[in-house]
This record gives sequence, C-alpha cells and structure tokens, in this order.
Amino acid sequence: MLQEDNKDKEDLSNALMMDSVVKTFGDIRAVDGINIQIKDRERVALLGENGAGKTTTIKIISGLMKPDKGMVRIYGHKPSSIEAKRYIGYLPEDASPYLNLSVRENLDYIGTIRRTENVQEKIEFFLDLLDLKSMEKQKPLTLSRGNRQKLCLALSIIHEPRFAIMDEPLNYLDIPTQEKVFDYFEKMNATFLISTHILSIARRLTEKVIILSSGKKVWEGQIKELEDLAEGTKTIESIVSELMKNVS
Ligand code: ATP
Repeated sequence: MLQEDNKDKEDLSNALMMDSVVKTFGDIRAVDGINIQIKDRERVALLGENGAGKTTTIKIISGLMKPDKGMVRIYGHKPSSIEAKRYIGYLPEDASPYLNLSVRENLDYIGTIRRTENVQEKIEFFLDLLDLKSMEKQKPLTLSRGNRQKLCLALSIIHEPRFAIMDEPLNYLDIPTQEKVFDYFEKMNATFLISTHILSIARRLTEKVIILSSGKKVWEGQIKELEDLAEGTKTIESIVSELMKNVS
C-alpha cells in the first residue's frame, strides 16, 4: 500500500501509481481493485475485451472521473491537481475539439492555455505533419472523421506532455498518417499509456502490456513475454485472448 503521508510528494521516477482502485456504476464493477505502476518513460499498452474497464481506468488516471476507492498518483500528484495536469496529455476515445474554433484556432487556444513553448512553430509543425495545413481555417464539423481525429491527436500532445494517455489514438487515421504518428511517438521522450484493441499498434508503440478483464488486471508483462508464450506456434492475438479469459 502507498503511504498516506507521502502521497503528494513529487515522484519523477513513477509516472503512475494506482493502488486498489474501484469504480462501480450501479451493480457494475467497471474497475475492480486495480493496481498499476508505470515508471517514467515506460510505454504501456492497455488491452482488454469490450467492457473490460479500459476507458474507465484511463478516465480515472486522467482525472476525469473519481474512483470510489483506492489511490491514484501521477508523478506523485493527485490526478485532479494542477501539477498532474501539467504532466498529462490525454486523448479520449470520443475526443472532440472546440467546434466553434477553426483547426488553427483550436491549436492556438489549447497550445496557449497549456503553455506550449514556441507555440506558433508547434502549430506549423503539426499542421504539416498531419496534412492539415489546407484545412487550417475550417471548423471541425466540416472535417472528415479522420481529419478531426488528427486535430484531436495534435491537441493532446502539442504541449509535449511527459505522460501521454491515449484511448485508441490511431482510430480513423489513414495508413500514411499512422506511419507518421508512429515515427513521431517514437521520438517523443514521454511515458505512454495506450488503450487499443489492435495488437500491432501495441507492438509498434509499447514494450509492456497490461490486460484487463471484467474490471481486474489479469496479466502484466513485456511484449517479448507474449511472443515467448506464443512460441512461434500460436499468434500473439490468440495468447492475449486466452489471457483475457483468466479472471479469478
Ligand atoms: P470498450 O473496449 O468496449 O471500449 P472498455 O474496456 O473501455 O470497453 P469501459 O468503457 O471502461 O470498458 O466500461 C466498463 C464497464 O462499465 C462496462 O460494463 C460499461 O457498460 C460500464 N460503464 C462505463 N461507463 C459507464 C457509465 N457512465 N454508466 C454506466 N455504466 C458504465
């Protein structure tokens, strides 16, 4: 258990400490006593079947939802604190930009309130990287779903967060954009927690996997361990689906 008297001290070696966290919705135990520790600069994928509790877990970590029980600390700070928010870049599953602002105005507004260094340079960089330059004056609802996702992705990382927390970040993106995003994430000097159903994304972006099932953590280990479990005879996907069924 974490020490209560130590809970708000900055701890730059641990991006996330999550201890015995519970979240219920009526009779549903969406998160059922989960413990997770993520070290600074570690890259972790969160896997689990539909309804396993991934989004709820990520919302709790990002400070969007309060757990019923348990403790969560981001670099030693409560998720709702200004200190934790400074570290976090959060891309929700159903991300939406400000609909009354243009693409460029969204980047400018979020970049500025998140105190981004050289914000104008960053805006140009992301417009160029994500091929949004020709759409910079458009309002989000006039964009395709994929282009809107590109904007949301840029908004979540424009301030170069130390801890990127992302729910299905590559949803709707075309293959060339996915490749550019893979390259960019690789260069980011950040901790990553990425929720995804797509194992190839987990393998490209992370080195460690946490598997949830029915609100519980059922497996945690390196991607390499999953490959070893598959022993060249099974697919990693089949190993992961077996592990997802291991609920005690
Ligand atoms: P998916 O892969 O389908 O997105 P998930 O692993 O992200 O699923 P959650 O969205 O965290 O799962 O949901 C976990 C459980 O909590 C599900 O049974 C879901 O129906 C329930 N749940 C989540 N949010 C709410 C809510 N606001 N009200 C009631 N039940 C909820």
